[in-house]
Amino acid sequence: MRKKGIAILGSTGTLGRATLDVVRRHPERFRVVSLSCGQNTSLLLRQIEEFRPRYVTVLSARLSEKVKREVSSMAGAPEVGHGREGLRRAVSVRGVDVVLVCVVGMEGFLPTLEAIRRGRTIALANKETLVVGGPLVMKEARKQGVRIIPVDSEHSAIHQLLKREKKRAVKRLILTASGGPFFRMPLKKLRYVTVEDALKHPVWNMGRRITIDSATLMNKGFEVIEARWLFGMREEKIGVCIHPQGVVHSMVEFLDGSVLSQMGHSDMRIPIAYALGWPERIASGVEGYSPENTTLEFFPVDERKYPCLRFACESLRLGGSAPAVLNAADEVAVDMFLKGMIKFIEIPVVIEKTLTEHLPWRLASPEDVLEADRWGRKKAMEVVKGL
Ligand code: MG
Repeated sequence: MRKKGIAILGSTGTLGRATLDVVRRHPERFRVVSLSCGQNTSLLLRQIEEFRPRYVTVLSARLSEKVKREVSSMAGAPEVGHGREGLRRAVSVRGVDVVLVCVVGMEGFLPTLEAIRRGRTIALANKETLVVGGPLVMKEARKQGVRIIPVDSEHSAIHQLLKREKKRAVKRLILTASGGPFFRMPLKKLRYVTVEDALKHPVWNMGRRITIDSATLMNKGFEVIEARWLFGMREEKIGVCIHPQGVVHSMVEFLDGSVLSQMGHSDMRIPIAYALGWPERIASGVEGYSPENTTLEFFPVDERKYPCLRFACESLRLGGSAPAVLNAADEVAVDMFLKGMIKFIEIPVVIEKTLTEHLPWRLASPEDVLEADRWGRKKAMEVVKGL
């Protein structure tokens, strides 16, 4: 069997390391062709020694010089690049079949688009790519006949549930949300929430922005936008329910009244293994979930408590550049909250005001997306200053 060539963008982060953990279990199946990281070059060097990639890339020219010196005496040393060009090269080097996009933020958008143009299969963990540029990305994927396999647990669940189903048989997608640390807190107490309170996620252990986004449910809003593009479903057919235990990763309701769900432990190696192995299932290193002696609960979403979810759906209805502006406004608002500049309950205020002032434009090129991102950041900063 020919080995699948893997490129990992963001190999030293939590998801990148989890990916290499899955790859390590299947040396007969996978070969690591390229790796990218930001600044953690000491871990990258260990990954180079273990996986022997052909190409690696880091954030800056200075860091790439450092890595070059370190690998110079190594037999079969990788080529080393940096910056945007490095990411472009990481997805296009010879032998890459699947690109795992684990980088966080807008940085993921352009290299993913490049990987699609090159006909690579995409295993997508980066949120921004589909949130900011959904229509463009899907159009390019269709044109190139490229598959985008989601790595987010909710979308991986739906991907698994829809495997052999016709789209017209699907009545509704139901994304589950943990509800974050404030699910059981009364609405009026939200105004006293501190950064420390908001950073305590009940189920998943993740980066700072996504943890805050889970507390406001904006993260689920972004997932609704991603689901809209990944599965070609209109937003009114995508629902959200709160499921504090985080065992059911999502559900699909069919026209015959059946509702299917996918369950598992909250361990990202499950969706990673699914995406890497697809269309086959491979071992992930995670034990199956045992339902004995457990209780699963499901609740409706209180829209007054979680207005961000509604903004995400509104941005989809507005279309074009609106979701990119939504994302930019959220990034600014969360950053300002983490720096102690605004209150937790002001995060949705910043997002709503920014979105209200935006007149969306059509996304004809990647530049239109980047322009929307810049516009949203600038406007959101103005809103913060005016609070
Ligand atoms: Mg998720």
